[in-house]
Amino acid sequence: MREDFTTARAWLERIQALPIEHPVAVMNVCGGHERSLTQLGLRGVLPSNVKLIPGPGCPVCVCPEEDLADAIALALSGQVTLVAFGDMLRVPINAPKGEVRSLAEARAKGADVRPISSPQEAVALAAKSEKPVVFFVAGFETTTAPVAAMLAQGVPENLSVLLAARLTWPAVDALLRDPEARLDALIAPGHVAAVMGANEWGFVAEKYHLPVAVAGFSANSLLAALYSVLRQTLAGKPFLDNCYAELVAPEGNKRAQALLAEVMDVTDANWRGIGVIPRSGFALRAEWRRHDARERFEFSTLPRRHAGEMPPGCDCAAVVLGKKQPDQCRLYGKACTPQNPVGPCMVSDEGACHIWWQGGTRAAA
Ligand code: SF4
Repeated sequence: MREDFTTARAWLERIQALPIEHPVAVMNVCGGHERSLTQLGLRGVLPSNVKLIPGPGCPVCVCPEEDLADAIALALSGQVTLVAFGDMLRVPINAPKGEVRSLAEARAKGADVRPISSPQEAVALAAKSEKPVVFFVAGFETTTAPVAAMLAQGVPENLSVLLAARLTWPAVDALLRDPEARLDALIAPGHVAAVMGANEWGFVAEKYHLPVAVAGFSANSLLAALYSVLRQTLAGKPFLDNCYAELVAPEGNKRAQALLAEVMDVTDANWRGIGVIPRSGFALRAEWRRHDARERFEFSTLPRRHAGEMPPGCDCAAVVLGKKQPDQCRLYGKACTPQNPVGPCMVSDEGACHIWWQGGTRAAA
């Protein structure tokens, strides 16, 4: 009788049957993957020498502190209505005590800051507003492509964007170049691959000779991808596997890529706590600069300490690079909790610290 490998349990049994004698470190790049893995409790049922390491796939976590400070300053100036996806509102900058530290605190001081959940909301708000509306965009390709579509379709003249958008693969390329990363395999992000194509992740196998598999967000897809990279590791034959073929085409979504190319240039970009990664960010092309908030407004400078860095004592940069686990940060669950976040990884739904805390991982006493 043929075995049924379409259920999560069957994939798990196959993983458990693999002769894994040495520790294998597998990075799951995407914050959405980390959330699914944690909520499903998959770490607890895997062989003990398979270690899943959360990666840099949290755009709020890597959004430059200076861009966030600019958004707060613009909101406080009273010139604009500032809109952003909800989890961005609570991310703190390194402002001295008593100063405004987040968009939420700016709103509490009277600034017109509003959470939105889609680009269409920004367009609708601008259409009925007499004030300038600035859409603060921190996201990866999955967020940036809809913003490009929004601009390409035409937006009210009073709508502009403050862009802190990033590409995912250059950050992974940068961390794989770092010998300290010590990774054995990679699970590539399903949503990003749906836009940019599974083939974008072929460099992991070709350039770094590491197994790589694109995964979706169900237990089935995640375990199938994990099984694939473990099998590849044991065989010593890395390749790119697509375990999310129902949504991810080898070449991705051509229409979304065309919109990105029409509206955005790819530029060198800063990642909070990490530094500049070549060709890892998006900027508006010249034809769209009339909708660039940086071209339309003056930005004042807010008082900050450790400008551009993670807050003192916060290990978010090491966490997003896979060099530390969230509970290895000495502030985890002590000074830093979802109610009182110190760093961005404890704020965002896609931040590893937030996900681990919500999943029940507590700090060592
Ligand atoms: Fe930063 Fe808090 Fe995570 Fe520590 S626990 S790395 S302070 S977000």
